Amino acid sequence: MSRAAKQQLNDGPKIRKEKIIASKMIRIYCKRKHHAQELCEECRNLNEYVRTRLSRCKFGDEKTACAKCPIHCYTPVYRQKIKSVMRFSGPWMLLYHPLESLKHIPIPEKIKKSISR
Ligand SMILES: [Zn+2]
Repeated sequence: MSRAAKQQLNDGPKIRKEKIIASKMIRIYCKRKHHAQELCEECRNLNEYVRTRLSRCKFGDEKTACAKCPIHCYTPVYRQKIKSVMRFSGPWMLLYHPLESLKHIPIPEKIKKSISR
């Protein structure tokens, strides 16, 4: 077994919370875009990928928002996918989880202003 495989996986409160948020966003996306009851295969795959990246994030609970992170640990394909999910689900997250959204999701300034007013 390589050393990387033995590396301990993150399980701090922040990482756990981000996993939950990511899963929620992927679920919203899949439900409305793919009309799937449960996650479709593609979204299940993306969900797994995101959770794995978070588990292995080298910053652990010290991490900043992924969008601001200097290390792009996602492959371009997954990066593109998660971006689409965030763009799509962002507005819905504002309805369901406004505070979390403000911290984690790149929300257009226009919308941000209208909320903070
Ligand atoms: Zn889907």
